[in-house]
Amino acid sequence: MARKPFIAGNWKMNLTHLEGIKLVQETAYKLTKAETDKVDVAVIPAFTALRSIQTLIDGDRLPLSLGAQDVAIEDSGAFTGAVSAEMLAALDVRWVLAGHSERREIFGDTDADVNAKVKQILKYGMNPILCVGETLDQREAGETDTVLSHQVTKGLAGISHDDMARVVIAYEPVWAIGTGKTATPEDANTGCATIRATIAQLFNEDVGDAIIIQYGGSVKPGNVAELMAQPDIDGALVGGASLSADDFAALVAAS
Ligand code: PEP
Repeated sequence: MARKPFIAGNWKMNLTHLEGIKLVQETAYKLTKAETDKVDVAVIPAFTALRSIQTLIDGDRLPLSLGAQDVAIEDSGAFTGAVSAEMLAALDVRWVLAGHSERREIFGDTDADVNAKVKQILKYGMNPILCVGETLDQREAGETDTVLSHQVTKGLAGISHDDMARVVIAYEPVWAIGTGKTATPEDANTGCATIRATIAQLFNEDVGDAIIIQYGGSVKPGNVAELMAQPDIDGALVGGASLSADDFAALVAAS
């Protein structure tokens, strides 16, 4: 089954809204129509830049879509500092990360929280990018497959077959994020294949075949082509390299 490549740039806690506007304009200027016909591209800024970038994407019909880095589990109410799925959906946010390793490790998001976020994102008509990945200790202990299928199974608990058409998975080995260490293309593919097999088992072969699985962890213009050449890797979730218009556009071109 043909799966359209999907490259998303997670800006993390970087860039003011003004810097974000500049980066999106420069990136969009560098992308050709042929590239964006072939590859879906998204930017995932901090909450504070969402409105400005939404206006830019809509107003100038830029060939990009918008994502958010996190979402609250609750619908609304006394949750100071939190941002709801309804608020994101009202800004035309199309993608929302759930379970990024920085949220799991630094902010203590549990598998149950991640599952609740996936459900909230779907409830408000957006598309979750469920992030999963093993730590270095888990990898060295030979637990990669178990960790991946556990995180996928817990993250997708209670999701319907129909809603799976809107879910993307990002395989991000924790030891490869922001470290400059990329998994070999073969290892990255093995992780993605494990995730695909888990999804086929949880749902069915068609759902497993159709789901978009990104690889993430120090993806750069220089290594994206060999990663994308792997049969189970359909795209990339990019951190550091998405902060440079040259690198991000080159990465899309090489995908
Ligand atoms: C990420 O934050 O999801 C990520 C993969 O970061 P980097 O590309 O910088 O490793």
